[in-house]
Amino acid sequence: MRSRCPHCEQRCPGYDRPNRPRQWRHLDMGGMRCFVQASVSRIRCPEHGVVTEMVPWARPAANMTRAFDDNVAWLAAHSPATSVCEYARVAWRSVTRIVTRVVDDAVGRTDRLQGL
Ligand SMILES: [Zn+2]
Repeated sequence: MRSRCPHCEQRCPGYDRPNRPRQWRHLDMGGMRCFVQASVSRIRCPEHGVVTEMVPWARPAANMTRAFDDNVAWLAAHSPATSVCEYARVAWRSVTRIVTRVVDDAVGRTDRLQGL
């Protein structure tokens, strides 16, 4: 079965399969950091080159799960920066990247004038 490109969702031929599984930071559980770990392949997309195959739990090129990204982005919109960093246990630079990913993902799918 051919995997999909995370950017264009096109089915692409495999490129290689790294020896080590990848990890994505997930929401903390019981005060402990939680990671999703999986063995994923890299694929060769004609448009985007060699990239890690699409996984349903994370956005392209992200080291965090969608749930973690969404949670941190919501916190960033409603809390001071220092609170977000301390609560999520990430650097402010990571928060900036997360917010950028979430906003890019939402563009075109969200009607910002709905309800006016
Ligand atoms: Zn692609």
